[in-house]
This record gives sequence, C-alpha cells and structure tokens, in this order.
Amino acid sequence: MNDILPDASGTWQFLEQTIQDLVQSYGYTEIRLPLLEYTELFRRSIGEVTDIVEKEMYTFLDRNEESLTLRPEATASVVRAAIENGLLHNQRHKLWTAGPMFRYEKPQQGRYRQFHQFDVEALGFDGPDIDAELIIMTARMWRQLGIDRIALEINSLGSPESRAGYRKALVSYFSGVKNRLDDDSIRRLEQNPLRILDSKNPEMQEIIAAAPVMLDVLDDDSAKHFAGLRALLDAAGVAYSVNPRLVRGLDYYNRTVFEWVTDALGAQGAVCSGGRYDGLVEKLGGRATPAVGWAMGMERLVALYAACGGKAPVQTADVYLVAVGDAAERRAFSLVEELRSGVDGIRIELNLGGGSFKSQLKRADKSNATYALILGEQELADGNIGLKPLRSADEQISVAMDELAATLAARLA
Ligand code: ATP
Ligand code: MG
Repeated sequence: MNDILPDASGTWQFLEQTIQDLVQSYGYTEIRLPLLEYTELFRRSIGEVTDIVEKEMYTFLDRNEESLTLRPEATASVVRAAIENGLLHNQRHKLWTAGPMFRYEKPQQGRYRQFHQFDVEALGFDGPDIDAELIIMTARMWRQLGIDRIALEINSLGSPESRAGYRKALVSYFSGVKNRLDDDSIRRLEQNPLRILDSKNPEMQEIIAAAPVMLDVLDDDSAKHFAGLRALLDAAGVAYSVNPRLVRGLDYYNRTVFEWVTDALGAQGAVCSGGRYDGLVEKLGGRATPAVGWAMGMERLVALYAACGGKAPVQTADVYLVAVGDAAERRAFSLVEELRSGVDGIRIELNLGGGSFKSQLKRADKSNATYALILGEQELADGNIGLKPLRSADEQISVAMDELAATLAARLA
C-alpha cells in the first residue's frame, strides 16, 4: 500500500481529471460507492474459483459477525447499487467511478495491495457499438496523453452455452497433459478450466498456447457481435490484435473481452482491461440487463505516462506575498483576501511566520510562484507595492495599491 506524496499527487490529479473530463464528454456520470460490501457479493459475481476470491480478498467479520470484504474491484458494486436503487427499470446508464481497490497480492512493481482504478460501466446496452465506443474512448485518451507504447488485444468468450462446449474441449485437452500441469491448474481443471488459460505461471504457457481456441467454437450471435465490434474498430482506425487466450481474471465476462497492454512496465503489462458481462445483473438478482465496462489501473497509468515522457503541468502559486514589519504583515493579511476576491482564479500564497526580507524572498523563490509581491514600511507609507518577476530577468516594478488587482489580472491572463 503506497503513500502518494506531494511531489506525485499533481500527476495523479492531472490524470484523474483528464480521464474524468474525457468520459464525461462521452456522457458518463459518476457513481460513488462504498469500499466495503458483503463478501457474498464478490463470491457470487467474480466467481469462487478465481485468483481474487480464492486468495486475494481482505475479508473479515464485523461486530455483528457479518462477513465483509474490502472491494477488490468496482463492477460488482456498480451492479449491486444499480439493482438496489432501481436504476435499471427501462433505463440505460453510462457510469464511471474511481478509487482504491484491495487485493492481497504478492507486492511487486505495478502490483500492490491497495491500488486505484478508474472504472467505466455501461448498463443496458447490448452492443457491439457500445463495446467499440468504450474502446475508442480509451484510444482517444492515449492520444491525448501522448501514450504510444500500448497495444489493444481483444477476444470473444461467446455465450454461456457455447462456453459450456468449449469447457468440455478444454477439459479433454488439459486432462491429456495433466502430468505437466501445476497444482493450481489441476484444481481448476475440475472446477473452472477456463481459468487455466489465465495462469501467470511461465511454465504453463507452452501448454496453454496449444489449447483449443474459443473463437473456433463461437455461437453465431457472438460471432456476429465480435465481427461487428471489429468492423467498428477498423472503421475508427483503432488497431488491435485478436488474442484467443485472453480470458480475464473474473468469471462474469461473456462475449467481448479486451486488454490494453504495454511493454514499458515489465511483467505488469495490463493497464486497462474490460469486457462484457451480460449475465451479471440477473445473477445478482436484477432483471436481465446487458452490460459492458473497463477498469484502468491508475498506478500503471501513472508509470506508463512517465515512461512515455509525459509530464503533468505543475501547480504553482501565481504570487507569493512578502511582508516585512508589523504594520505590513497586518496589511498583507487583508490584502491577499482582497486579491482572492478581486482577481479571478488567482493562486496566491502569503508568507507566514515572518522572517527577514531575504529569507522571505527565498521562500517565494522556492514556492515556484511567478511573482513576488513586496510590502514594507516604505511601500505602506507610499501606497504602493513591489511586483518582482521571479521567473524572468525583468526588473521589479512599483504598482499603485489601487491598481494592483487590475495589474495582476492583466499579467496572469
Ligand atoms: P493482472 O492480470 O495484472 O493481475 P487483473 O486481470 O487482475 O490484472 P483487473 O481485475 O482486470 O486486473 O483490473 C483492471 C486493471 O487494474 C488491470 O488492468 C491493472 O491495470 C490494474 N490492477 C489489477 N490488479 C492490480 C494490482 N494489484 N496493483 C495495481 N494495479 C492492478
Ligand atoms: Mg490479478
């Protein structure tokens, strides 16, 4: 679990704001959700035989002996909230939410126990147009952020029915090579053979590569849906590769699944992952509602942005007010408030704790402010104030107090 320190939080804010503005421009509105849910919600939605439910959840009994879990992802909560609050009665919703998620993982670069996701969910749309739009939206985001070391992989998991047939084919294939499977995979062979395809064990990769492919046994409707998605992505000029091994780590997906992956972050290459989960609303007790969404891993996005040379704009003060002497210090206190009211959007920092002229100017410089305002006994007596550019070689000038607000407004415009 990381502390996000002041020198990093500006980048976080910038990226969060950029994504928020982008998805809202596509018509998504925010939904805010609790960090805790009944454990049962995740067992039923994510699936018993998944990494998350088997070994990654932070689960505990509360004082009332109810089993609660710190959310490992947001989709289940979005669906729960939509059902509970009647959002799905003849309505469609495009929602986003963001915040910390919790998984008991082996910590390493790009993999943490508290991490952050930006999450987008569209409820009530059966696509493939919405699937395509969700992906096109992320492609726009990469362009906007100058992120180029990223590639899109897509796959279709078909319908539950066609997956049942596929499951049989997988069981038969993996049973034939059972002596080469690791313990996890052997267990999954019985309970959830699709999960074997999601194994992160390098020694399993060769066996997985030779396994039967879902796309070969796709039902007609899912095949049509997938072709529709591909046509829309092609028309939008969004490049992708079809990865028939892409199954995703959660059970609720059907049809479209996708992942944006990068080679810039070592082993933790998945930055944004998503897919369609048409069965989940009904499974959680709501009326059948098609749904699709994605989740962005914010820690990985921050790292990828930096790896692609991105630098968030630095938030600094416009003005640092230096005041020397008791009377000047008193006047300074009211002056900054007048400027805050009088100059739209001004970011102004008042020197606190006194100090000599020299030490105050040093602080002004350290604050990265564009200007220092200088108020001493002489300026007070003359009714003016010194305006000193801190980021250029320009000379300090003297400004009449009653012209100060207008002068700053013009200079900062
Ligand atoms: P992975 O295969 O890397 O374990 P996942 O399939 O478990 O990822 P999802 O549940 O789809 O991941 O979560 C969506 C995104 O959240 C991922 O693409 C990734 O960017 C990010 N993410 C997932 N787990 C972590 C973690 N422990 N630490 C940081 N980011 C994570
Ligand atoms: Mg995982």
